[in-house]
Amino acid sequence: MSIEVNNITKLYKNQKALNDVSFKVNNAEIVGFLGPNGAGKSTMMKILTTYIAPSNGTAAVNGFNVNTERKNVQSSVGYLPEHNPLYTDLYVREYLNFNANVYGTSKSRINEVIELTGLTPEAHKKIGQLSKGYRQRVGLANALLHNPDVLILDEPTTGLDPNQLVDIRNLIKTIGKEKTVFLSTHIMQEVEAMCDRVIIINKGEIVADKYLKDLRAGQDQVVMVEFDYRVEDAFLLKLPKVSAVKNTHGFIYEITFSTNDDMRSHVFDFAHDNELKILQLNQKNASLETLFRELTQRS
Ligand code: ADP
Ligand code: MG
Repeated sequence: MSIEVNNITKLYKNQKALNDVSFKVNNAEIVGFLGPNGAGKSTMMKILTTYIAPSNGTAAVNGFNVNTERKNVQSSVGYLPEHNPLYTDLYVREYLNFNANVYGTSKSRINEVIELTGLTPEAHKKIGQLSKGYRQRVGLANALLHNPDVLILDEPTTGLDPNQLVDIRNLIKTIGKEKTVFLSTHIMQEVEAMCDRVIIINKGEIVADKYLKDLRAGQDQVVMVEFDYRVEDAFLLKLPKVSAVKNTHGFIYEITFSTNDDMRSHVFDFAHDNELKILQLNQKNASLETLFRELTQRS
């Protein structure tokens, strides 16, 4: 077990930020910690990384207790805080060198993390000169320096432009093949794009804990597609196993199929045969969306 949280409560003065929270994260899973702003995500992550102590309850990371074995917890986790604090005047390599000295990690590991996070072409630049996407990579490189088993990433994709978003998501998925990744987000699509499992938190309480494959199983599949031109609904209804077509706006269509087989390649073939160009093509998890709305948008 990589992360085990037992009945954690956290009070800031008399405000309850976490109320009796319990969950577990297994080895080498990518788990999304999803919830609206103010739900308690950062608070939970600060407890798991030993930056703050819980008011009540216990948690363990890699088997080490966050209250009593803080040093061992710290060597087991890599942490990317929400507002990734970086020294903008330092050069990328200088910054990583500095932190490597603090952790006592080898010089060769610096080159490894630079390579792993795709920073090689930017490594000679000042952090202040980098785009937000590259700064996030520096934050990830830093979190990986001491080669921890568990990564805790607080809103790692917030504020990135669409291209940077795709790059960072892919990087996190690659890292997640070897390490346990626990990442927070307030955006449902981020969970869909990166995670094996979702834990939903609202107002300091866990309201759902599900594997995405279970949410997808046994439900209709919705594919969102954007063409470069208008298409008649009747035309799209000729697709195999299609049950509904909705033009959501512009040339974007939501096509529902009565199967959970991946139908994206059929949509692609359809576009090709009809000389249409596809500008976007995504699978939408209708049940995750419903779950998230129902659980977090009640006042
Ligand atoms: P999230 O990361 O999900 O947006 P946070 O964990 O940052 O949520 O915050 C949870 C709640 O605790 C919010 O109501 C927030 O205002 C409050 N809170 C967070 N940090 C502090 C603090 N240092 N002092 C007082 N209240 C805080
Ligand atoms: Mg937060």
